[in-house]
Amino acid sequence: MKKQRPPFQSCPHCDARAIVRSSGQISLLVRELDYQCENVGCGHTFVVQAAVVRTIVPSACPRVGVHLPRGNPNLGPKRKPANDDAPTPANDPGPLTPAATDMSG
Ligand SMILES: [Zn+2]
Repeated sequence: MKKQRPPFQSCPHCDARAIVRSSGQISLLVRELDYQCENVGCGHTFVVQAAVVRTIVPSACPRVGVHLPRGNPNLGPKRKPANDDAPTPANDPGPLTPAATDMSG
């Protein structure tokens, strides 16, 4: 089974990568993670809250007492797909030149 990594978090002060040092469940829907900045010149240690905020696809085994709004997966922060590199088609001649668009004959 693939080991799960916590979500990437950058240091709010220096933008360096921060790593999780410890975490704990606060409630059924909220977890807190203690992050430490990897920049030795910064050393910032901070707390991040991760919360379940809405349902994209309902559970097949719903728990009594868990009520989440149904939400569009495209709402929230802007996400980029992992494969967002749109290759140029092989038959694309590139931008049109003025000669190619000159219709005066
Ligand atoms: Zn930092």
